Amino acid sequence: MITENQIQQLIQDNKNHWIKDYKAIVELPSVSSQPVHKPDIEKTARLAATFIEKIGGTSKIFTTKGNPVVWGRIENNPLSPTICIYNHLDVQPAEKGQNGWNRDPFVFTQEDNKFYARGTTDDKGPAMTALWAAQIAKKLQIQTNIEFIWELEEEIGSPNFQEALDQIKPLTKANSIIVSDTVWLTPEQPAMTISMRGLIAFEITVTTGGKDLHSGLCGGAARNPIMELAGIIEHCVDPVTGSIKIKDLDQTYNAPSKELLDEFEKSGFSIAYFKEAHKIQKLRFDNVRDITAAIWAKPTFEVHGIVGGYTGPGNKTVIPNTATAKVSMRLVPGQDPTKAFELAKKHILNYCSDAVIEMDHGILKPFKATTNTIENEKIKQAIDFGFGKKPVFAAEGGSIGAIVPMSETLEVPVYFMGLSLPEDSYHGPNESFQWRQIEGGIKSYVKYFELISK
Ligand SMILES: [Zn+2]
Repeated sequence: MITENQIQQLIQDNKNHWIKDYKAIVELPSVSSQPVHKPDIEKTARLAATFIEKIGGTSKIFTTKGNPVVWGRIENNPLSPTICIYNHLDVQPAEKGQNGWNRDPFVFTQEDNKFYARGTTDDKGPAMTALWAAQIAKKLQIQTNIEFIWELEEEIGSPNFQEALDQIKPLTKANSIIVSDTVWLTPEQPAMTISMRGLIAFEITVTTGGKDLHSGLCGGAARNPIMELAGIIEHCVDPVTGSIKIKDLDQTYNAPSKELLDEFEKSGFSIAYFKEAHKIQKLRFDNVRDITAAIWAKPTFEVHGIVGGYTGPGNKTVIPNTATAKVSMRLVPGQDPTKAFELAKKHILNYCSDAVIEMDHGILKPFKATTNTIENEKIKQAIDFGFGKKPVFAAEGGSIGAIVPMSETLEVPVYFMGLSLPEDSYHGPNESFQWRQIEGGIKSYVKYFELISK
């Protein structure tokens, strides 16, 4: 049995050069949504592959029509099981002085035991944590084999991931996948994700004529596309409660059960912390059951932006000829994204027959994790070892595009080991990651590898 002290000693021995590697990978601006960063994406893949080789693994970079995917394997005993850990190494855009960033997002800084830069927590820090744990597991002669899948298109919805996965399939010996790209509920309470929502995004455009009109000459008789768009939105969703009004959509999923809501209530979700971490002034609901149901177990209909009309200084009494709303729907396990889109389209066209509704890039299917297995119990035990507290089950309202393809293509169970904290600013300004999450994460992984080897 491996002791905490043995792991702690190896962490101390390696910490300084690990942080140098962490800095090197975080400072590469691997922003997947901006084509100008394509060379940085390629550099990140090459550097990541060298990290795996450096600790005695083999690695391969699979190219796709889009960005590459890094795969690696550390073989400790060919007869033992293999755990494959998924992370992504691309990041969200960030610019100093913009959207609240008062640091240079691609300069790695350390203050006390906190690391700052874009990607420190989402998701390069958790990726490095798993890698370092694998290094320790090898050193301690733990027999479990460890693989890595590091994607570089997660932040843009994983459009080419399947192409890489088909190339990985003949090589991988994974018996299960661990996804490490999720967030705890509070700093005191580790969480294990049991489901993720899916996503469809689309644009609704209403065009009513060939040019802008004078509101004095035509107003009253002419249709106003912005107002019709507002009507369409109100026809689809109650703006105050967020309840979706799309006909028959409620037939496509099960409303959260009493038992599930009991779990959510026990999860340690704190309304005050949630509001503070996300800088929310007032929520739609004031109790944990309704809030967690809304963010984890119910679909949403959101409007992200409306384009149209005059928005410059002063007034211009014009009736625009066209307007577009960018919307999306988060979907819960059980919902088929194609069916949900068809229902939304039909509902909108019933209200406004000449609206044009176009799906925006890919769809992400919702996902339900495997629960009540021996592996689940071992992960819980490992997290308890690493952080001194058993995780609670929680759901995740967001989406990770790679999960459903991995579970369907590799035909193995998918589990979650998230390490990030809400205050680490996922996708937000001044992103950070704390050493205590890295250290606890390493201990948890090493323990899990040990528990699996038996
Ligand atoms: Zn992420």
